[in-house]
Amino acid sequence: MIIILLGPPGSGKGTSSSVICKKHNLFPLSTGDVLRERIKQPDEFGKHIAKLMSNGELISDEIINQLVKEIVESDKMKSEYDGILFDGYPRTVQQAEFLEKLLADNNQKVNHILLFNIADDAIVKRIVSRRVDRKTGNVYNLISNPPPENTDLELYQRADDKEEVILHRLEVYKKQTEPLIDFYRKNGVVGEVDATLPVEKMIVTANKILAE
Ligand code: ADP
Repeated sequence: MIIILLGPPGSGKGTSSSVICKKHNLFPLSTGDVLRERIKQPDEFGKHIAKLMSNGELISDEIINQLVKEIVESDKMKSEYDGILFDGYPRTVQQAEFLEKLLADNNQKVNHILLFNIADDAIVKRIVSRRVDRKTGNVYNLISNPPPENTDLELYQRADDKEEVILHRLEVYKKQTEPLIDFYRKNGVVGEVDATLPVEKMIVTANKILAE
């Protein structure tokens, strides 16, 4: 099964991804996570990506598409998982067209799109309170999902989670990624999730859509 999570930054895609992937034995492919891992190498390429990310700009389609192709066609993917859940990819029409062809070449197709709906002001509020644990990668929210006390977490705020960068990421989302909603509506695979609901309720809606 191939699932795509579509929606603005901070709409709960990452949180929902881990629950859905466990239930359906899917590989969680978050291009943001792959890039964050890559920038730990401080070579020229790593620095180039890190700069774009911290400014809330997209990485080029060529780089992202190549990276996704390598993962989709890896042996591990084919032998260990029953599909892939894409989180943060595709983000442009060019990426979506590339993905259609890549999946077709591998005898697969997109089965479900989950579209996470939430208003801009709610997103900004959510993201400025987001913190990540450096050691585990676990994501917390100081207001809605506070980290446990008295543990040796190393919490940090992502460089692109500062308010001015979030506003730019939202602009980029509207311009480059929102057109994908129509692109996929034509295929009739888009199910909508109210991303203002608590996580458990969001997951219930998502599971209903996936069972259709
Ligand atoms: P969020 O969903 O919170 O915006 P992500 O972790 O998905 O965050 O992405 C963080 C950053 O990584 C993006 O702002 C962009 O710079 C880069 N990135 C991630 N996925 C893509 C993609 N598919 N195409 C281009 N850039 C990407």
